[in-house]
Amino acid sequence: MAQNEEIFKKIISHAKEYGFVFPSSEIYDGLSAVYDYGQNGVELKNNIRQYWWKSMVQHHENIVGLDSAIFMHPTIWKASGHVDAFSDPLIDNRDSKKRYRADVLIEDQLAKWQDKIDKEVEKAAKRFGDTFDKDQFVATNARVLEYKEKIDTASRRFYGAMERNDLADVKKLIEELEIVCPVSGSRNWTDVRQFNLMFSTSMGSVSEDANVIYLRPETAQGIFVNYLNVQKTGRMKIPFGIAQTGKAFRNEIVARQFIFRMREFEQMEMQFFVRPGTELEWFEKWKETRLNWHLSLGIPASKYRFHKHEKLAHYANAAADIEFEFPIGFKELEGIHSRTDFDLKAHQEYSGKKIQYFDPELNENYVPYVIETSIGLDRTFLAMLSFAYTEEKLEDGSERVVLRLPAVLAPFKCAILPLVAKDGLPEKAREIMDVLKYDFMCQYEEKDSIGKRYRRHDAIGTPYCITVDHQTLEDNTVTIRDRDTMKQDRIPIEKIAELVRIKVKGN
Ligand code: ATP
Repeated sequence: MAQNEEIFKKIISHAKEYGFVFPSSEIYDGLSAVYDYGQNGVELKNNIRQYWWKSMVQHHENIVGLDSAIFMHPTIWKASGHVDAFSDPLIDNRDSKKRYRADVLIEDQLAKWQDKIDKEVEKAAKRFGDTFDKDQFVATNARVLEYKEKIDTASRRFYGAMERNDLADVKKLIEELEIVCPVSGSRNWTDVRQFNLMFSTSMGSVSEDANVIYLRPETAQGIFVNYLNVQKTGRMKIPFGIAQTGKAFRNEIVARQFIFRMREFEQMEMQFFVRPGTELEWFEKWKETRLNWHLSLGIPASKYRFHKHEKLAHYANAAADIEFEFPIGFKELEGIHSRTDFDLKAHQEYSGKKIQYFDPELNENYVPYVIETSIGLDRTFLAMLSFAYTEEKLEDGSERVVLRLPAVLAPFKCAILPLVAKDGLPEKAREIMDVLKYDFMCQYEEKDSIGKRYRRHDAIGTPYCITVDHQTLEDNTVTIRDRDTMKQDRIPIEKIAELVRIKVKGN
């Protein structure tokens, strides 16, 4: 764990040093859990968004896009349940004055027991070698059973208390589990309270008639309230989807862990409208499709896993997360939810407008059911950095840090580097740059030794470095260096674009 935390810290400082992510308002000492994306970060972020958009909208004839406003009518959040129920249980430690999410404290304790189970299994697997039967071991080993019993009892009690909104029992559970504050080490807890996560502001010029409005905590509601507009004007037939990317805001109680949990972040969401009764089939299809999207980036399958929700949100009849193995452990990256007809029905009720679909095959009207895929853009960014960040010892004893980003997402696809900044090499390099820049993000650089420039581009994940040398002036060839293998090949200038295109083509 300690080693992983170390790596996480290195990723954070790398992100800053190389212009990916800066703390917001840094010259004023920052603003908690808000971040800015720098010159390389914005390219990576745009590329992730575009990769998602292409695969969801461009590659699906029955999915269209939308860009709804952040400000929406306040009744929308009443209808969606966010005004009444979008809250987290919080608890303070009186000694450290630190605030925690009560559910996270309990879930961390459950995870500790699960870790112990995993360690027992790992030890036994080593001891028994090929003859090890994991299922049998987990079902019979006394210590494993004891931890499992603890996990089951505590989670039953916790979810039951949350369902009854019995916050006193949640506090009692924290005390009984002897959970201590990680900062003060004490068990001097306040009562548990509910805390609404929506930011509010007011709209209107005169304070007396200003209306309270909310900054959207999810982009999904903008899709639901535009369902009729899109369905009618796009003549969409069920099943069909509406996709949207954009900012969402949550006043997170515990906003830590860099861009994993922010107060202002970006979501990429798609709501897929289906015939009632077919939703669970579509839910399974979208789970598979979304996992394949992640794998298409060339990241090993072992980095991802599904987590099935045992306790469902008030609007869902099935839900699963795709978790990614961050340096801080497996954590949610994307949620896939079967949201039933909850949202459309609620908007129908609160707005008084009929929100239905006439199904010509069935010859009947109904409120469609919805499957949602919802992924955090910033979290995907962090997943990519975590996967890509690699420290390497080279054969000659030197070290390098390389970002092995999927080429399709890399901020720059190639760097154009004159070997020296004289003898006509910069002019030749600029000529190449002027052709390539219409198709790819390229960077021209002539400062510092060629070795240093290679290292800089390794550190920001540029797949190819193109070096222009004296031979280029004679025969119009350049060297092309591969970021991962560091292998260099000599190729004609007119071949560069084709090679780069093949490399950066997504799957
Ligand atoms: P969590 O349990 O981590 O708070 P959630 O279940 O509330 O997340 P959803 O409401 O399902 O998250 O949002 C969909 C996606 O949006 C998440 O999978 C995550 O990638 C992203 N997301 C949610 N909250 C944040 C946040 N505060 N900062 C960054 N990304 C977020």
